[in-house]
Amino acid sequence: MSFKQAIEGIVLAAMLAAAPLSAMAQAERAHVHGQIKLDVAIDGPAIVIAMASPLDNFIGFEHAPKTDAEKKAAEAAVAQLRAADQLFKIDPAANCKLGPIALQSTALGLGKAEPGAPEGHADLDGTFAFNCTNAPAAKFIDVGLFAAFKGVRQIDAQIVSQEGQFKRTLKRPNARLAWSK
Ligand SMILES: [Zn+2]
Repeated sequence: MSFKQAIEGIVLAAMLAAAPLSAMAQAERAHVHGQIKLDVAIDGPAIVIAMASPLDNFIGFEHAPKTDAEKKAAEAAVAQLRAADQLFKIDPAANCKLGPIALQSTALGLGKAEPGAPEGHADLDGTFAFNCTNAPAAKFIDVGLFAAFKGVRQIDAQIVSQEGQFKRTLKRPNARLAWSK
């Protein structure tokens, strides 16, 4: 097994380990426009961010895009979310590189269909994995979601690291998610 394969295996394991967390988050969360939930897991060499959000936060509507303007808005939002190293700037001390990303939104035809949003609403969820040479050194993430998407007003985050579990709420204009003791 190459070093790269070993790292990919570890990142995959971390993504799977984060899955029950995000399932829990989905059970707990309310679909509130303007709010995003992030679960950050710092595990071995990986930092995995699981995001749950109403679709409205990113594009201003919650149905499959029909008009050209709606299609453009959806494409632009997805492109911004895929450039996740711009949206989640992890503490440089951890020396992280963006790894696998998974986006899920039934309305946009991304990923597997999943129940969750209330009738007449839609979600866009994502999992963003980063490979780091020193993941435990990370003490903050500068979150670009407020800057990128004007519909986002509040971010409720939970961070799980070797140091413990932290809960944080970010409101504009504070975009730094920090959890050092
Ligand atoms: Zn909604």
